[in-house]
Amino acid sequence: MVQYLDSVCEILVIIFYFSLLKFRDAPAGIRTRASAVAGLYHTTRLPALIYVLKGSKILKDFQQTLYMDLILDIGGTKIEAMVLDSVKVISHKRFLHTSFLKDLKSVLRSFSSSYEIEGVAYSVAGQVKNNKVVKSPNLPGLNNFDLINYTKQFFPNAKIVLANDANCFAYGESLIREVRDVFIGVVWGTGLGSGIIINNRIIEGNNGIAGELGHIKLNHNYKCGCGKKGCLEAAVGGRYLEKRLKKSVKILLSGNYDLFENETLNWLSAGLEKAVHLLNPSHIIFGGSIGENLPPNYLENLKKKIEENLSFNTSFKLGITSSTSYAVIKGCRELLNSEKLHF
Ligand SMILES: [Zn+2]
Repeated sequence: MVQYLDSVCEILVIIFYFSLLKFRDAPAGIRTRASAVAGLYHTTRLPALIYVLKGSKILKDFQQTLYMDLILDIGGTKIEAMVLDSVKVISHKRFLHTSFLKDLKSVLRSFSSSYEIEGVAYSVAGQVKNNKVVKSPNLPGLNNFDLINYTKQFFPNAKIVLANDANCFAYGESLIREVRDVFIGVVWGTGLGSGIIINNRIIEGNNGIAGELGHIKLNHNYKCGCGKKGCLEAAVGGRYLEKRLKKSVKILLSGNYDLFENETLNWLSAGLEKAVHLLNPSHIIFGGSIGENLPPNYLENLKKKIEENLSFNTSFKLGITSSTSYAVIKGCRELLNSEKLHF
């Protein structure tokens, strides 16, 4: 019996030990203890009872090493909050904000009292540079606001990171697809944003506006929310399309409306053609409420149209994400795990 328990304990100790190595920030003390128990077994062959006791102590410590992260996706009208442990989503809540900072405060307070959070990642609609929101047209209260310091009062020991929402999407999607060269992620929903990833790095640019494909200028006069005319976003962003075509995005996506097909194809291909000439990406992948629902024939036509206007031979994949929110979670999580990703 003792011999049997002995073998079981040895196996458990070894499994614990190798599991711990896989987890982020497993305290060195626990690893050492696991090693010591394994070593003790081999050198002294103490009765199984010791290993059972040691094993239960290790299990207790091990449970404490299961880390939890809070991911906050901040949009113009809502805050989406997700708590994840090392493997799965534990809580997913959506809040509509009326007074942004006040609402954010109550979200942070409620999550800080309910969970032991180790990492907080913000995905924010706006211009972000070096973990700071420089400008957010839809959330003026965030302009130059030190969101990270503000969050520290609720999570004093947590690692806190902040990135532009399209960058989070592009980063996550490039990781999911294991693309290591030049990747462009386009979030096409109420507006149009994009993120550039090169060799697994988010390209923020000098002031955080790299990849603002939605605001490159085309030959039209539609007025954009940024205050300028001619932006790609003003021609194809969902909120502009609905206003101009007087149809909901859902109906427009059903594919029966030539205006949507022809006009957005023209403007979008014109914008993406510039991006291809500038960056020569291997992938352009769409996410967002419109992007992730694009029918295959629309993508085929769009690709043809872009290629017609290219001055050089090149190949790239044009596709859609399987889930925008999963890509954003993946991107945020990796930001928390990485030391330095912005350039
Ligand atoms: Zn604009």
